[in-house]
Amino acid sequence: MTSVADTARLRGRLLEHEPMAKHTSWRVGGLADHVFIPADIEDLSLFLHSLPAGQPVYWLGLGSNLLVRDGGIRGTVIATSGTLSGLRMTSETEVRVEAGVASAKVARFTVAHGLTGAQFLCGIPGTIGGALAMNAGAFGGETWDIVDSVETIDRHGQLRMRGPADYNIGYRRVEGPEDEWFVAAHLRLRKGDVADGKARIRSLLARRSQTQPVQMPNAGSIFKNPTGNYAARLIEDCGLKGVCEGDACVSEVHANFIVNRGQARAADIERLIDRVREHVERAKGVTLELEVRIVGEP
Ligand SMILES: Cc1cc2nc3c(=O)[nH]c(=O)nc-3n(C[C@H](O)[C@H](O)[C@H](O)COP(=O)(O)OP(=O)(O)OC[C@H]3O[C@@H](n4cnc5c(N)ncnc54)[C@H](O)[C@@H]3O)c2cc1C
Repeated sequence: MTSVADTARLRGRLLEHEPMAKHTSWRVGGLADHVFIPADIEDLSLFLHSLPAGQPVYWLGLGSNLLVRDGGIRGTVIATSGTLSGLRMTSETEVRVEAGVASAKVARFTVAHGLTGAQFLCGIPGTIGGALAMNAGAFGGETWDIVDSVETIDRHGQLRMRGPADYNIGYRRVEGPEDEWFVAAHLRLRKGDVADGKARIRSLLARRSQTQPVQMPNAGSIFKNPTGNYAARLIEDCGLKGVCEGDACVSEVHANFIVNRGQARAADIERLIDRVREHVERAKGVTLELEVRIVGEP
């Protein structure tokens, strides 16, 4: 353990040779050398400060947008889910939420406090940290629409406050300072009606369960929608629904989802992603851009 960081003063947990399949919604992925689960932001700061320079760092929320290759991760994964879990009102319309809080919890919490604007987060099965990194969105709402400011941490454990102007933000795209990650967000919402908010959440969740393969492990949309089109429509038009590589299959329910039928390996999923992309490019002349993030060693 000491090869990773001076752990004597740390209060979090440092796991070695941790199977990433336990931490990703696809249920695939090899071993990470180390996974650090900080006790809180201060502990995380201490950890990063004492981590030897050159030691690669990866961030993990709920792994719902992540393909970790079968060879795993050489370096240290910082896991925020289940920890960094602070969530509180800071004014009548503002909320401070730490990176490890589930997006769905933020939707429910804000509605319960009579606020509107974050309901779209209810069906996105990740953390707020992941939602900030991806500019996650659904049903017309996007994460950064409601961000007032963020708290970040860098490779040395230095904490900062930043505003949206510090980032280049687009559709499922957030570019900001290198080697700096989100530890909390301050969300600004509007006053709303509790019953309306709850009804909106119910209707959004119902639409999801009809249109997405919710029973089988998946990572949501594989590709971003190209301008003026839908990735799912292009893939379906190519007749690729149900096509498989090993146990990884293009979903019959939603063509932009790949499901793990049981024993898929990351390599099967990656081969299927490449196959779908090449087929769509050949048949439709459209190059699909990945939404899912791929990390690790083959
Ligand atoms: C069934 C299903 C439905 C989905 N529906 C939607 C949808 O409607 N809209 C949508 O946008 N997405 C959707 N997704 C994708 C996914 O849930 C979102 O992208 C989510 O925001 C990812 O959060 P996460 O915590 O799981 O991130 P992870 O998958 O753990 O990580 C995703 C990326 O974010 C980075 N990251 C994580 N935490 C931090 C942090 N604190 N600071 C900096 N970087 C960080 C990771 O390094 C990685 O690059 C869906 C996924 C599934 C499985």
